[in-house]
Amino acid sequence: MEYIKHAMIATWKMSLDGMHQAYEDLFVKDDRKAALLTAITDVENNPDYHYVGYGGFPNACGIVETDASYMDGNTMQFGAVAGLRDIASPIAVAMELSGKTKDCFLCGEGAKQYAVEHGFESKEMLSNYACQQYKQHRKSIMEHDTVCMIAKDSVGLSCGVSTSGLPFKHPGRVGDSPVIGSGFYCDSLVGSAAATGNGEDVMRGCLSFSVVSFIKAGMDVQKACETALFEHLDRLKTAGYKAGDISLIAMDRYGRCGVATDMKQFPFVMMDDKHPDASVYVCRNENGTMHIQKADEQWLSSWQGD
Ligand code: ASP
Repeated sequence: MEYIKHAMIATWKMSLDGMHQAYEDLFVKDDRKAALLTAITDVENNPDYHYVGYGGFPNACGIVETDASYMDGNTMQFGAVAGLRDIASPIAVAMELSGKTKDCFLCGEGAKQYAVEHGFESKEMLSNYACQQYKQHRKSIMEHDTVCMIAKDSVGLSCGVSTSGLPFKHPGRVGDSPVIGSGFYCDSLVGSAAATGNGEDVMRGCLSFSVVSFIKAGMDVQKACETALFEHLDRLKTAGYKAGDISLIAMDRYGRCGVATDMKQFPFVMMDDKHPDASVYVCRNENGTMHIQKADEQWLSSWQGD
C-alpha cells in the first residue's frame, strides 16, 4: 500500500492561504503541530472570516466567544478551550493545554485566566464589521463554519479546530469543536477526523470518534466518513428530528483522506507529498453519493462562502 509521509486536509476554502504558509513546517521541518498552528492561526487572524477568531460574529450579548481544540494522535493528549474571550489565538492556547494530563480542557473565565497567565496575546476579537452586522442583521444570519485541520508528518497525526461558534449564540453556549470525540479525534495508530456543522447535531452522534471507530473496524477512510454521517442523520430522522449541514474530514494512518457532507457542496483544502501545492477541492453530494473534484477557476471565482 502507498504510504504518504506528509499530508494535510482542512475544512472550507478559507484554509487555503494558511495551508500554503504551512508548507515549510510540514514538508521541510516535518512538524505537523507547527503546520497546524501556522495554518489555523492564519484563519483566526483574518477579519474576513466571520466564524473563526478575530472578526468572528459575537454571541447574543455582542461578545466574541471562541472554542478551539488540539489533539496529538501519538500521545493521545488533547487540549481545548471553550467560551474563551479576548485572546488572539485560541488554537495556540489549546495546543499549550494539550501538554497537560489534567486541567487540559478549560472554559470561560478560567480559560482566559490561563491564557493571560501564560503570556498569550490579549485582543478585542470583535471587528467593526462583525459589530455592525450584530447590530443590524443578527436575526437573519444563519450560517456558521469552523476551521478543522488534520496533519500527518513522518511520525504521526494531529488535528486542530478553531471557531467562534454559532453567530449570536447564547452566552456560554459551547459547540462540538472543543469536545473530544465530537468535533475532533485523533489516534495515529488508526486515523483522525473532525467536523463542521451545527455543533449540537454533531455532538449527538460523537461524529469524529465514530469515523475513527469505523476506520479501526477496517473501513476505508472515505466510506467511514459517509457511514458515520449518514447513519447518524438517519438515526436523528428516526427520532423525528431533521439535522443538516454537517461535513466531516478525515485521514487514516497512511495519510489517505476522506470527506463527507450532507450539504450540496462542501469545499476543503488538501496537500500531500505528491501534491505539495495546497489546493481547494469540492465534495458534491448527489443523493448521498460523494463526488470529489479539484475546484476549477470558475468555481473558485463564483464561491461566495468561506
Ligand atoms: N461546529 C460549530 C459549532 O457548532 C459551527 C460550525 O462548524 O459550523 O459551534
